[in-house]
Amino acid sequence: MKIAISGAGVAGPALAYWLLRAGHEPTLIEQAPHLRTGGYMIDFWGVGYTIAERMGILPAVHERGYAIQEVRLLDKRGRKVGGFSTDVFRRMLGNRFVSLPRGDLAAEVYRSIDGRTETILDDSISALQEHGQGVRVVFAKGGERDFDLVVGADGLHSRVRHLTFGPQRQFERHIGYFVAAFDTAGYRPRDELAYVSYAVPGRQVARVALRDDRTMFLLVFAAELIAGPDPRSLDERKASLHRIFDGAGWECPQILEAMDGSEDVYFDRVSQITMDAWSKGRVGLIGDAAACVSLLAGEGTGLALTEAYVLAGELKRSGNDYGQALRRYEHRLRPLIESKQKAARNFAASFAPRSTLGLWVRNQATKLMTIPMVADLLIGGDLRDDLELPEYEM
Ligand SMILES: Cc1cc2nc3c(=O)[nH]c(=O)nc-3n(C[C@H](O)[C@H](O)[C@H](O)COP(=O)(O)OP(=O)(O)OC[C@H]3O[C@@H](n4cnc5c(N)ncnc54)[C@H](O)[C@@H]3O)c2cc1C
Repeated sequence: MKIAISGAGVAGPALAYWLLRAGHEPTLIEQAPHLRTGGYMIDFWGVGYTIAERMGILPAVHERGYAIQEVRLLDKRGRKVGGFSTDVFRRMLGNRFVSLPRGDLAAEVYRSIDGRTETILDDSISALQEHGQGVRVVFAKGGERDFDLVVGADGLHSRVRHLTFGPQRQFERHIGYFVAAFDTAGYRPRDELAYVSYAVPGRQVARVALRDDRTMFLLVFAAELIAGPDPRSLDERKASLHRIFDGAGWECPQILEAMDGSEDVYFDRVSQITMDAWSKGRVGLIGDAAACVSLLAGEGTGLALTEAYVLAGELKRSGNDYGQALRRYEHRLRPLIESKQKAARNFAASFAPRSTLGLWVRNQATKLMTIPMVADLLIGGDLRDDLELPEYEM
């Protein structure tokens, strides 16, 4: 089958990989002019880790990754008030855990298909018209082409979802926070292999030292701190972050100064996508486009890889009966995804507490993570992936 995939992030190239293995002809359509490395830091583990292993990309993922040793929570004077060793994750996940920039994971997934898949950069789908024999894809930069199937892997703000199911607001569930991320060179101080974080009620800043003298920053804050419409331009984003974090204490002034020199600041609502169906006719959705779990699940990339694998596998198993394949793909994965979304929503309040008491409780709880039984109780359930990964002949 000729299959158009909108989005060359994590889910899109992974789907292309498995479709190639199953003998299909995927075409990736990516709106960015080039595929980027870097970006915010992600933790990578769980069922998606097994998919990466099956794709043969794990050694490269680990090579680009960081074996973060510690989560360290500080007060405004830089004194430790909480945190834990990440050995707790390694123990619970059988050492199958690594942290790396999202773009670096995406690049390794893409490398597995490089030169074997048509990739159209700097363009996107502007219209979809389903007809008896397929779907006509109209490109934003001009031109039309017919495909047997179209898959939206174009992230939280999916264009394919919008074109097929309607505006995002129908499916977007706000978690009540915003997130911003950027990285800069030469920042001091540096703490190697540590996730160093500082919080005041409703506001949290973290930094992670990267190779080549770079540091990645992650800022999370309560949505009510944004007055007026969401900031859009780079200058509006920076101005909002200044307004919210200028007086927050700790290293905030120097972190904001570092941000001022950055040309690229990620800034978005923390949201989930919940839909009644992940496909309609010849159009399907995977990854964040279908069912974004949000950063609070800490597993969106792994789930995106899993969705790609299962969708390609179900197409193979159903002998290219795309309707049956899309239904089975959703049926297999929906319970897992919904449980991850629920866990992420429950975790929101302890990730960036809105009160002094909430912060204190969170800090004390992180100290107890050294006790295996307490750690199992606090995060054991969220780390488990209740999914028996199907085996497909591809
Ligand atoms: C701050 C933050 C921290 C996170 N932390 C973690 C973590 O610790 N662990 C984890 O596993 N996950 C984490 N996530 C979630 C994870 O990044 C996503 O779940 C994952 O990237 C989803 O993959 P995707 O391929 O569906 O979407 P994306 O990775 O968002 O890729 C979508 C692609 O589609 C492209 N695109 C968008 N619109 C169009 C269009 N109209 N036409 C063509 N192309 C388009 C984009 O340019 C992009 O390349 C985090 C997310 C955030 C924001």
